[in-house]
Amino acid sequence: MAVDSQLSSPLGPPACDKDSKALQFIEEMTRETGAVQERVLGEILIRNAETEYLRRFQLNGATDRDTFKSKVPVVTYEDLQPDIQRIANGDRSSIFSAHPISEFLTSSGTSAGERKLMPTIHEELDRRQLLYSLLMPVMNQYVSGLDKGKGLYFLFVKAETKTSGGLLARPVLTSYYKSEHFKTRPYDPYNVYTSPNEAILCADSFQSMYTQMLCGLLMREEVLRVGAVFASGLLRAIRFLQLHWQQLAHDISSGALNPKITDPSVRDCMSKLIVKPNPELSKFITQECSGENWEGIITRIWPNTKYLDVIVTGAMAQYIPTLEYYGGGLPLSCTMYASSECYFGLNLKPMSSPSEVSYTIMPNMCYCEFLPHEPDAPAVSCDSPPELVDLADVEVGKQYELIITTYAGLCRYRVGDILQVTDFHNSAPQFRFIRRKNVLLSIDSDKTDEAELQKAIDNASALLKEFNTSVVEYTSYADTKSIPGHYVLYWELLVKDPANSPTHEVLNLCCLAMEESLNSVYRQSRVADNSIGPLEIRVLENGTFEELMDYAISRGASINQYKVPRCVNSSPIVELLDSRVASVHFSPAPPQWNPERR
Ligand code: AMP
Repeated sequence: MAVDSQLSSPLGPPACDKDSKALQFIEEMTRETGAVQERVLGEILIRNAETEYLRRFQLNGATDRDTFKSKVPVVTYEDLQPDIQRIANGDRSSIFSAHPISEFLTSSGTSAGERKLMPTIHEELDRRQLLYSLLMPVMNQYVSGLDKGKGLYFLFVKAETKTSGGLLARPVLTSYYKSEHFKTRPYDPYNVYTSPNEAILCADSFQSMYTQMLCGLLMREEVLRVGAVFASGLLRAIRFLQLHWQQLAHDISSGALNPKITDPSVRDCMSKLIVKPNPELSKFITQECSGENWEGIITRIWPNTKYLDVIVTGAMAQYIPTLEYYGGGLPLSCTMYASSECYFGLNLKPMSSPSEVSYTIMPNMCYCEFLPHEPDAPAVSCDSPPELVDLADVEVGKQYELIITTYAGLCRYRVGDILQVTDFHNSAPQFRFIRRKNVLLSIDSDKTDEAELQKAIDNASALLKEFNTSVVEYTSYADTKSIPGHYVLYWELLVKDPANSPTHEVLNLCCLAMEESLNSVYRQSRVADNSIGPLEIRVLENGTFEELMDYAISRGASINQYKVPRCVNSSPIVELLDSRVASVHFSPAPPQWNPERR
C-alpha cells in the first residue's frame, strides 16, 4: 500500500520494507480512528468483565460505549488508591485487570507527596514497544541516512523497590530498559546507540553517565543524533561534560578507564571500547572543553549530528533557549507523548519546530475520552462532568483533558494533561500539549502544585515564629539559567521586631524546611539524581508585591480580581523582583529521601 501523502516528506518513499509496514500501520489505525477505538474498548471490557472493579458498575456483560459511559464513573488516582493499595499489599485477585499485575510503574505525578503507583500488565510492554517501533520509520521520512551512524542517547534506570506485597515498583522507562524487549532487541541499522546496554542498565547514576559520555566521545564522528528523554536530561549530560571532561580526556589519552567506574559489567564492556590510547582525540576534547565559550558545543564535539532528540514541549519548553545555545541551532525533535499509565502517541512531523509540535494519539493504545476544558472557566466538579467526547469527535481549536481506559484496567481515568486539537491526520486528531493540570513548578520530572508549595511555605515559616516574623507574600520561579535548575522562592517578610530579625542561617534552614516538605519526586531529583539544585529564598524589600500588583494593573489586570501569581516566569516580572532582592539564602543540605515506599 502506498504511503499517504500527508505522512511523506520531500524525501519520498519509506527508507526500507520495515518502515513501509510501520507507516502503513499508522495509516490504517488513523483512518479508522472511531472503529479502532470501539474495538479497543470492546476488547478491554470483554477481557476485564469479571474484574471486581467493573462488576461494581453492573455492566452485565455490555461492551458498548453507551453503557460504559453511562455506568462507569470518571475517576482520579485518589479514587482508585484504596484498591491500588490492596494490590500493593499483595491481593492478587482480579481487581482491575483479568491479567495478572506484573509490576507497578511509579509515575512522576504524586499523590499525598508520594509517586503514584500505576498497576501494569506484562502485555503493555508489547504496546510500548509497538509505539517505539513507529518512531524511526516516521523520522526516516524527514531525515535521510540515519542508518549510516549512531544515536548518542543518555538513558538511565532509576531506583526500584518492592511493595509490601512483593510487586516491583519502578519508573516505566526503567521497566522498559530492563525488559527483554530492550535488552535483546534485534539489530536495526536505524537504531544503533553509542551507549552499551551495560552502561544504560548501571544503577549508579555517575558510572552510567560517565560511561555513556565516554562512549559518545569515543564514537563522536559516528554520532548522527543526540538525545535524552526530556530536555532536562540532555542538559544534565552537558553539565556533566563540563564537570568531568578532564577525567574523560585523561581516560581517552591513557586508554585506561577511570577507577571510579567499578561496576564489573560496565568495566568489562568498556575494556573492549577503549583498547588503546588516543591522544589526538583527548587533545581535541581538551581544546573544545577548556574554553569558556560552550556555545554550539554539541555540534563541535559531534559534528555530524542532524538533530537533538528530546521532548521540549510542556514544562520542558523552558529549556529551549539553553538547548539552542549548546546545540548551535540544531533542530529539536519531539517524537512521542507517553506516560506511566499508557503510551499515547507520536509526532508525525518530528522535525517541526517546538511551538508547532502536535502529537497524534494512536487509537490502538487505549480508549481515550476528552473532557472539554475551558481555560478560563471555573473547575468542573468530578461528580457531574459534562459529556466526554470520543477521540474521533474532538474539535480543532478546542482544549480537553485526557481521560483513558487501558488494557491494564484503568477505567475513565483522568491523566491530568490538557491538550488542544490542532489538526487531524486522516481521522485521528493531533494534539498540542498545553500543560499538566495544577503544576506550578517543574525542573526535571518533578511537578509541584500550589497546595504543596503553600504547605512547604507554612512549614518553613514555622521557623520564623520565634523571631516574630511571618511571610506576608510569596511567589516562585523555576530558575533554569544554570544546570541543574532550582526552585526560587521570593518572600516578603513582616519582621515585627527588627532587633530580633531572623538570621541568615535561619533563612537557609527555611529553604531546607521547604525542601523537606516537597514531594518525593522533588526530593529524589535533589538527592539521587542531582537534577535539581538547592532551593533558594530571595527575601524582597517591603512593598515589592505592591509594585508587582501595580505592574499587573498597568498591563490591564483588574484591581478587584488581582491575585498574587504563585509562580512567575515572564522576564519583566522576574527582573522587577530581582531588582528588589534584600538577601539571598540557599538550602544548606539535601533533604531526606528514601527509595523505600511506606
Ligand atoms: P509519568 O507519569 O511520570 O510518566 O509522566 C507522564 C507525563 O509527562 C504526561 O502525563 C505528561 O504530563 C508529561 N509528558 C509526557 N510526554 C510529554 C510530551 N511529549 N510533551 C509534554 N509533556 C509530556
